[in-house]
Amino acid sequence: MALKTAQQYIDSLRKVKSDVWLFGEKIDNFVDHPVIRPSINAIAMTYKVAHEPEWEDLATTTSNLTGEKVSRFSALFMSCDDMVKKVKLQRMLGQRTGCCFQRCVGMDAINAVYSTTFEIDEKHGTKYHERFKEWLKYIQQNDLCVQGAMTDVKGDRGLRPHEQEDPDLFVHVVEKRDDGIVIRGAKAHQTGSVNSHEMLIMPTLTMREGDEDYAVCCALPSDSKGVHFIYGRQSCDKRKLEEGDIDVGNAMFGGQEALTVLDDVFVPWDRVFMCGEVEFSNPVVERFAGNHRQSYGGCKPGIGDVLIGATSAMTDYNGVAKASHVRDKIAEMNHLVETLHACGLAACTQGSKTKAGNYQPDILMANVCKMNVTRFPYELSRLAEDLAGGALVTIPSECDLRNPEIGKYVQKYFKAKDVGAEERMRMLSLINNMTFGLNAPSYRTESMHGAGSPQAMKVMIERQSNMETKKKAARKLAGIDPRENLED
Ligand code: SF4
Ligand code: FE
Repeated sequence: MALKTAQQYIDSLRKVKSDVWLFGEKIDNFVDHPVIRPSINAIAMTYKVAHEPEWEDLATTTSNLTGEKVSRFSALFMSCDDMVKKVKLQRMLGQRTGCCFQRCVGMDAINAVYSTTFEIDEKHGTKYHERFKEWLKYIQQNDLCVQGAMTDVKGDRGLRPHEQEDPDLFVHVVEKRDDGIVIRGAKAHQTGSVNSHEMLIMPTLTMREGDEDYAVCCALPSDSKGVHFIYGRQSCDKRKLEEGDIDVGNAMFGGQEALTVLDDVFVPWDRVFMCGEVEFSNPVVERFAGNHRQSYGGCKPGIGDVLIGATSAMTDYNGVAKASHVRDKIAEMNHLVETLHACGLAACTQGSKTKAGNYQPDILMANVCKMNVTRFPYELSRLAEDLAGGALVTIPSECDLRNPEIGKYVQKYFKAKDVGAEERMRMLSLINNMTFGLNAPSYRTESMHGAGSPQAMKVMIERQSNMETKKKAARKLAGIDPRENLED
């Protein structure tokens, strides 16, 4: 089947009969819901670019499984160059949507599970890898959107999964049957979950002896019986229910996170890719984390580009663009986004081949990339707020601008250099949206916690940094160990 267009993707979601809850109400038509639709539009953009000749090379590739042209979002990375293209694609999509376009989680999960299932089979003689390949062919051939589902709700972080007072705080197998397994639990803050056709469930942390029921990896349709989505709140989300679009800032696109409840969901064996092999939970977690931490070197600089553009426009409107301190701050913002992107690219070019044949980014660079992401978007937001001015949080609403009685005052007193009040308000709202409004989750808190919180990166950086080599170099130069002999 051909690659879906954006419209075909949106139409295909109408057939997905997921159980979606928002503001305490069951939403029957989630596709057209004004709070949800912008997040669907953001994923639709990943489908649109696959049909644009200019971006075809980044957005599509030839599947190593089917030999057909497929979306990069459902493909395996078969070289370092494939990963470079992924990160460049993500930057472009960040620029086009100004938000999280959600589909990368599935792509990064697919790649982690592909290589891990190969290694489980090698050790245990199981058939997970073949099953996974069959499922992936189905995803590619139907150009489906996959949600990678890793983060469990975790309960008491000091206890192992099987030690929790409530056994359901980590997703686990509650029944093994001849025809499949039954799973129960919940995955927290799942990106794009409502907008996906399928979900790929993975363990959330390294499992040990005793945690066998929790070492589970499987795929299921999003509207499977027993799956419930409880939509996450976003700052200012009810602005989307108001008339007009100025106060939303980025009215067309947005991110999405939901709590995914799995209440005794049946999964047939041909969709089970790990079941009890505790020692392979670590590789799947580390590989997914590496892939997704590297991904942030694509989307976050892309969104940062939009923030820089909006901030620069505001300095034009305010007539201060030429001031040396303004130019200095804009240069600083550009330095920050390019550093984010450079690290993402470095993780790709230094990647390596797995036993299964697909590629993994360099783990150290991927973690350094995400560590920067936990910091730089905050600095970018600070500089944007500095340069945009206090009107960012004091502008009147669109209703006031349109009001027949007082609109004229808003027009008169909010106009800026060469532009009217409406243009200035639109740009301020866009910055507001990205720094602490509707899209702030994806540019601030999500930058902090998405793909793991900063301490998880610090642990990996500590593990991956070769301290002995560094100490040896210092001992030699200090003359504690014998110095180099240049004549040898
Ligand atoms: Fe993709 Fe970035 Fe969203 Fe992750 S946070 S799904 S990498 S856009
Ligand atoms: Fe994310």
